[in-house]
Amino acid sequence: MTDAAESPETGPAPKPLLGAADIRRLAGELGVRPTKTLGQNFVIDGNTIRRIVGAAELDPTETVLEVGPGLGSLTLGLLDAAAHVVAVEIDPVLAGKLPNTVEEFRPGASGRFTLINQDALKVTELPHQPTALVANLPYNVAVPVVLHLLEHFPSLRHGLVMVQDEVADRLAASPGSKIYGVPSVKAAWYGTMRKAGVIGMNVFWPAPKIHSGLVAFERQEQPETRASREEVFTVIDAAFAQRRKTLRAALSSWAGNGAEAERLLRLANVDPSARGEVLDIAAYIRIAEARIPMQA
Ligand code: SAM
Repeated sequence: MTDAAESPETGPAPKPLLGAADIRRLAGELGVRPTKTLGQNFVIDGNTIRRIVGAAELDPTETVLEVGPGLGSLTLGLLDAAAHVVAVEIDPVLAGKLPNTVEEFRPGASGRFTLINQDALKVTELPHQPTALVANLPYNVAVPVVLHLLEHFPSLRHGLVMVQDEVADRLAASPGSKIYGVPSVKAAWYGTMRKAGVIGMNVFWPAPKIHSGLVAFERQEQPETRASREEVFTVIDAAFAQRRKTLRAALSSWAGNGAEAERLLRLANVDPSARGEVLDIAAYIRIAEARIPMQA
């Protein structure tokens, strides 16, 4: 059953989105058996799509990047809210069908839709500059995909992604909280992340065993720093590789030895006996900079 609720009091009915029967039919036509390896859980509920698209706060002139369009559930909602959708799908069978689905459910919208059959982690160029990332991400690669795209596409200024609920909490965590970790600090390099809701399991086929979470992000100005992103990320990785250790101990290999780690931490105005989980991105930047000699 296609999800196209009639609403005589509120004007024209919304355009049809994919319901459970559409997903079953499309998957049947393709002989698709969703795989866990590719995180294939397809949304079968139009209200969830409307909620995601609404929370993404898209401007109708925007070009949206969607990763993992799958059978097209979210793609159709995005085509209604944005000027152009660029979708990157790794599965060639799903990718092969998607243009037909767009034509079937949104006749005439094909010119506003670009499909790329590729691994999102390897994409470094796109034919259109996307301004927003909106995606129901494959859960096993969600954080690397978000960080990779923010790094390679500076045109992305905001977005809304659906990830495992626990990962959503991690991405949006603040310093000092138990779940604050590498994804939280690295994401903060690019901008602000905010938890934007929880999604139940029954809106997917097949239903996952865990809840999903929505994360909204806004890109901020790139931090002013003499250290490169790679140098800052190396410090972050080292600090959290030994989460229970003090920063003096955790950063001793990075600095050369414990005494040097302590000297650099003090130079960066960071307490050497603190742990990595209490530092914000600005502190990590200061530590990375402490190791770079000042120009004369
Ligand atoms: N957007 C669809 C929806 O909401 O129903 C499908 C979402 S499903 C959670 C994740 C999708 O990402 C699948 O279609 C899967 O094939 C695709 N995928 C998995 N790994 C990928 C990767 N590295 N690059 C691009 N697409 C990927």
